[in-house]
Order: sequence, then C-alpha cells, then structure tokens
Amino acid sequence: MAASPRIARIALDRPLDRLFDYRLPEAATPQPGQRIRAPFGRGTAIGVVVELAASSEVPPGRLRALQAVLDAEPLLDASLLELLQFGARYYHHPLGEALLGALPPALRHGNPLPALAPETLWRLSPTGRDALNDHRVRGRRQRATLRALEQAGPDAALDRATLAAATGLRLAPRELRGLKERGWLETTAPDADHPVAPTPGEHALTPEQQAAVAALDPTHPTPLLLQGVTGSGKTEVYLQMAERVLARQRQVLFLIPEIALTPQLSARIQQRFPGQVALLHSGLAEGERLRAWEAARRGLRRIVVGTRSALFTPLPDLGLIIVDEEHDAAFKQQDGFRYNARDLAIKRGHIEGAAVVLGSATPTLETLHAATSGRYALARLKNRPDGSRPPPVEAIDTRVHPADEGLTAPLLDAMQQTLDADQQCFLLLNRRGFARVLSCDACGWIAECPSCDARLTIHAHNPRAVCHLCGHQEARPRRCPECGEALAQRGLGTQRLEQALARHFPTTPLIRLDRDSIRHKGALEEALERIRQLGAAIVVGTQMLAKGHDFPQVGLVGVIDVDQGLFSVDLRATENTLQLIVQAAGRAGRGAGGGRVLLQTGHPDHPLIRSLDAEHYPAMVAPLLEERAAAGMPPHGYLALVRVDADTAEHARHHAERVAAHLLAAATADLRVLGPAPAPRHRVNRRFREQILLQSAHRGPLHTALARARQDWQADERPRTVRIAIDIDPVSLA
Ligand code: ADP
Ligand code: ZN
Ligand code: ZN
Repeated sequence: MAASPRIARIALDRPLDRLFDYRLPEAATPQPGQRIRAPFGRGTAIGVVVELAASSEVPPGRLRALQAVLDAEPLLDASLLELLQFGARYYHHPLGEALLGALPPALRHGNPLPALAPETLWRLSPTGRDALNDHRVRGRRQRATLRALEQAGPDAALDRATLAAATGLRLAPRELRGLKERGWLETTAPDADHPVAPTPGEHALTPEQQAAVAALDPTHPTPLLLQGVTGSGKTEVYLQMAERVLARQRQVLFLIPEIALTPQLSARIQQRFPGQVALLHSGLAEGERLRAWEAARRGLRRIVVGTRSALFTPLPDLGLIIVDEEHDAAFKQQDGFRYNARDLAIKRGHIEGAAVVLGSATPTLETLHAATSGRYALARLKNRPDGSRPPPVEAIDTRVHPADEGLTAPLLDAMQQTLDADQQCFLLLNRRGFARVLSCDACGWIAECPSCDARLTIHAHNPRAVCHLCGHQEARPRRCPECGEALAQRGLGTQRLEQALARHFPTTPLIRLDRDSIRHKGALEEALERIRQLGAAIVVGTQMLAKGHDFPQVGLVGVIDVDQGLFSVDLRATENTLQLIVQAAGRAGRGAGGGRVLLQTGHPDHPLIRSLDAEHYPAMVAPLLEERAAAGMPPHGYLALVRVDADTAEHARHHAERVAAHLLAAATADLRVLGPAPAPRHRVNRRFREQILLQSAHRGPLHTALARARQDWQADERPRTVRIAIDIDPVSLA
C-alpha cells in the first residue's frame, strides 16, 4: 500500500528561496493553496501549501509538524498557484513572498476568511418616485440618491457601493436607512441567479467599435491589442466585450493603472453592471478589500475592477482580462516582487483559457510589435464617434520666442483666443512644485538634499524645502550658505506656472492638477467636476492631466517643456514623452470647433518633433522601433537590471563587482553583462546604488545565467546592509 502523503511542502512568508517540509498533524488534510501556520525558528510563520508528499529528505526526528491549517479550502486555486510559481521563477523572486503578497493584507497576516453577509439592495419605492417628481425631496444628497435609482431603470435595486459610484457621494448606511424610514426607499436581498441586468449602453456602437468587439474571440487566449486614438470610445468597446463574456456565465477582470486618477471609469463600470462589480485597490480599508476579494473568489461578484495587484484575485469563472492603458508604467511593480501585471495577465489568460485585451491609444513598443508581427490580434479604432479628430501638433520655437516663466508670446496669444471662444486651455508641465531649485547666482551654490543626489524643491504655502525622492524637508534658506548672497528660485513647477498664469489672466478660473493639489480625499473628483462645469478656464497640471479624462471643452493643449524627456538617454524616456504628448493632445478638440496643440521646444526641426502625429501613433513610433532593433533593445532583445545598494559607496561598489563576476561566470556567449556602474541617481536616502545591465537577444540565456549567478551570490558573505534586487524587463534604467 502506498504511503498516503503526510508531508506538506510549504512556501513561507519569508524572503527565502526554498520550500519547507512539515509533518501534517493528525486528521489534517490541507490542499495546495491553503494557508497554514508553521513553527519557524523560534517563532511561527504563515505559509501556503504548495504540494503534498509521502516522504521528505529531512530526517524524521528533525521534521516539525504544522501548527494549524488556517483555511477549510484553498484560497489560491491551482491556476493561480501555477501563475505565481511562474511569476516567482520569471522575476527571480522568492515564491513565499509572491504567494502571500498575492493575498489581501488581512489574509497575509493570518486573519480568517470573512463570512459574507448577504448585501442589502436598495430600490426606489412608488412613494419615493412621487416625492422625487413632485420636488418634495429637498436635500441634495437625498435627491441625488433617488435620482440615481430612477435612472438605473424600473425596479433597479442597487447595493450601496454602486449607489455611491452613481452619485459620486460617500453614502453611509445610516443615510440609506433614513431614506427607507421616510418611505422613499425599499430594500431587497440579492438574487444570485437573477442579477440585475446590465444598464443599456448610452450609445449604439460605431461600425469600427462593432468590429473591435467582434475581433475578440472569447474562447481563445490570443491577446488582442485594441489600439484606438484618444476619444475613440475604447471604454464602450470594453463594456460590450464584458457584457458578452458575462452572458456566457464567465467573470471579467478589468485592470486599470490607478483608480484614484480616473474615478469616472470605475463609476461607469459599476453603473453599467449594477451590483456585480468588486473594486479592488490599495486605497480601501483592509476589511473592505478583503470582502470585495472574497466576493469575487466565491463568484458572487462577476467583475473585478482593480489596479495591478488585483491581477491575482481568484476568479472561478474567469473569461476575460482587460488591461486598460496598457502602456502605463503603473502596471509594473517597482519594489519587492517586481512583476508586470500586463505581462502576467497574458500568462494568466493562457493558463485559464481566458481572453485578454490590451487597450491604449499609445501602446508600448513591445505590444505594438507583437500585434503587428501577428503574435497578438489587432483591432484599431481610427476615428472618434463624433467625427472630431485629435488636432495636429504645432511647435513653438523657444529660441525665437523666449519663454518667460514658462510661457511664450505665441502660446499666450493662442490661450487668449481660446478663452475668448469660451473654451478651456490645458497646460501640461511634468514637474510639480513652485520653483525647481534654490540657487545662488553669485557663486552657483544649489540647495540639495543631504541624503540624495537630488535638488530640493520649493512649494507655495510651504515654508520648507522638500526632497521628492526621500521626503526630507528643511527650513528654506534665505541667503547662500557659501557666500551670503540672496538666493534665487530657478526652474519652473506647476505651482509657479499657476501664479504666472494668474497674473496674465487675472479673471479666468484657474485649476491645478498635480499630486499636491489632489492630496485630500475627494479633491480630484471635485476638480474634475469643476472642469466639466466651467466654460472658459485654464487647467495646469502634470501628466495627470493626460489620463483618460473626457472633457468636451478643451480648445487648446499647451505642452510647456518636453525637451528634457525627448532627448534623455533612458531606455523609454523618448517613448514615454511621445505617449504623454499624444495623450495630452487627445484631450483637445473633442467638442465642436476642433482644437490646437502647441508644443514649446528648442528643437522644432528635430525629426521626433516634426513627425508628431497624434492620429497615427503606430506610424509615428516606427522609427523608434527601428532604433530599438538596431540596438538589440526590447522588443528586439531582452533586458534585466541587477541593482545593488548599500550604506556606503565602497560597499555598493565592492558587492556589485562580486555580483557582476558571478554573472560573467554564468553567462554564455549570447549574453552581455554591462557594469557595474553607478545608478543615474547614485545616492538616494543615504544609500548608494550600483547597477548591472544584462542584455540578450533571447530570454533563455538571460534567465539561465541569472538563476545560476543568484544561487552563487546567495552563498556569499555579505553585510546585512547590502541589498541586491533583480528587475526583469525594467521599465526604466534610472
Ligand atoms: P477613449 O477611452 O478611447 O479615449 P472614451 O471611451 O472615453 O474614449 O469615449 C470618448 C467619448 O465618446 C465619450 O464621451 C463617450 O461617451 C463617447 N462615445 C463612445 N462611443 C460612442 C458611440 N458609439 N457614439 C457616440 N459617442 C460615443
Ligand atoms: Zn553663493
Ligand atoms: Zn532626499
């Protein structure tokens, strides 16, 4: 008789590269994917069962028993385990951290799964409908709530989250109960077999949109790139695709770069599919996030809308993954388990037989190449439904028209014309703060962070100078510490631009959008709403301006300064700057009357600037792809970066050299090992950074060498203060 498996192989929540064997306690039969608590060292650790075995190489006397099995069933199903095992291997990261990190924080800490109480649904009562129509409902919030239910359709019953999304209000349960006590609302319980039907879309699809929806084969995991000019109605296409997949009783995972920046998008999805959406992002309270995750895992919610980490939500009936704005760097995790959610989404589609759609007006060169070479399917939206077109980009030569506080005369004239026509001006400046630096004109001294290779920035209404890298703050010096002269503020940030604009256009409403201005909860929603309601107005902001917002009144987009980004040496700086210009340009000219895009540059004749064309992005970036091919850069080659950082420059250098030696020893002929070299920002937060770049025409040699070298360097003696991190397919080399 074969021995029944009494050994569990566990991945522990520790940065360790191996599984640990434990004896199963009497009567316990956990399955892979279940959490356990195990004795570890002198304490205990949470872990996940990866496999069961009949025997162990650990001598029986040394084998310890599991302390407790925490779940009655696997939390991570077989396909998610497979995905995370693949991810841990591909990104060279310890499996335990990848597995536990994929769970909501509450579960990672060992909390039990929540029991989900059936959720109350709210419905407009006949009395409520009458009261609404007779204008007897006085309160603004009350009216908005009743109105949202009326608009959701006859007899629509919505949960609180959907109502909150539909009204844009944070609705407390108490508020809804109050409306019920007045007789205006009724409650019902959800019926899983008869979910509320999707709200019909606002628009009939254009033929192009229909073709895009039809291009998705929901039974096939070949990824589909949906490349549509800004404003071409990609969201409507996603929603129709989702509807088709839901109708086949499957679930939909909708990944977006950042929920906070695009509140309308998640609200729109929730309104379209009332009561079916689970929102998952890091802004949620721990308990809220856990309940949303559990509702998706149990199949109670059919759509998950979330950021990067929502990729790992268990979905028993997954049928479609949508990655919106696939070019956004937010899909790449930048510390710890450095995965790219877009790339792992494609892997997940393969494993689970789910369709995958990547959407963008400005796809990454990697995705574009995959689609044009036939590896991905391609659907294009070349036109906007309203027939408007992204305007051409015009350059303003800053050598001929010098900028004063960022503003040239031609830009100011064009702004005046736009405002006179009751239209809005959007000004993009990808740098926040007031003045960039505090410098001495007499001796050249510049205020710098004591801990980083970075200059301090000055913000309006803050008497202190701030480091954007490490958060260091200090009193703003008035005089130069070297020579005693008064200090000047040089450079330009959004706050200073805002002040200059207020002087030029003293009576025009002015709105600023950057991380500083949206810090308060609800501030962004408020600003977006104001922009929508205003006529003539000026909006200044960072790249946040360019994020998917749909405003009909934008007559002019001004790009204040792009030269730094366009001509930088970093791998993707040019690509990212072009994407930013095209996305920003896409905000203009959506309504009647077209629009203009003005770009201030000192290089108006440069081929990159001359070929700017928001309407034909793929053609515009074709030369960049050729450059990448010639240089063996992605997508025509593969990169990995090994970063070494330490408390002193000497430590960082010494250990980076040892890591490089291991890599060289493991490398085959088709792998280049470049470095170590100091990172572009050598010193950040009092630590020193070196990096080694690996480049190969194929993935294989790169991963084989890394895996071997990593084993070797893990055996090295090293002070605890030295850290080594691996970044596969890095989005930036800085
Ligand atoms: P994208 O995400 O491609 O930039 P959106 O999905 O935001 O574009 O759509 C842009 C605008 O076009 C929105 O105001 C949307 O309501 C509108 N729209 C989308 N599809 C249609 C259609 N078929 N007919 C009319 N208007 C549409
Ligand atoms: Zn000085
Ligand atoms: Zn700093």
